[in-house]
Amino acid sequence: MTFAGGCRCGAVRYELDSEELPLTYACHCLDCQTWSGSGFLLHAMVPEDTLKISGEAVRLRLPADAEAMPSEHIGCAACLTRIANTNSAIPGMAVLKVGTLDRSNEVTPAAHIWMSRAQPWITLDENTPIFEETPSPEAFAEAIAGE
Ligand SMILES: [Zn+2]
Ligand SMILES: [Zn+2]
Repeated sequence: MTFAGGCRCGAVRYELDSEELPLTYACHCLDCQTWSGSGFLLHAMVPEDTLKISGEAVRLRLPADAEAMPSEHIGCAACLTRIANTNSAIPGMAVLKVGTLDRSNEVTPAAHIWMSRAQPWITLDENTPIFEETPSPEAFAEAIAGE
């Protein structure tokens, strides 16, 4: 099945090939607060070839000293919505910005990372796995398997 989404103005649309809504996590790091202009960003790691982007998407890279892990950011030049990024640390994967899904209202994050930088008013239910910073892939997988 596919899940559709797109940017704020509609110039960039995408379809995600997936059996279910993608496993989503919230990142509260300062970069994600800046990117989103909000308290956190919702991300989902999906195989790059399952994400079919249509329309006038632009791809950009930040200056080399701005990112520890060089990433390519994909978004809409008309409305400045970022749709996804790839990251050299996870070849073949795309990190989808889950708030751009048409059905984002049905998504609940499975984990929260970078809680050390979270806005102080954010409170989470105690059953949701949290990490102070970026967890190791193993720790993250273990935490969400316990869901
Ligand atoms: Zn747009
Ligand atoms: Zn972040």
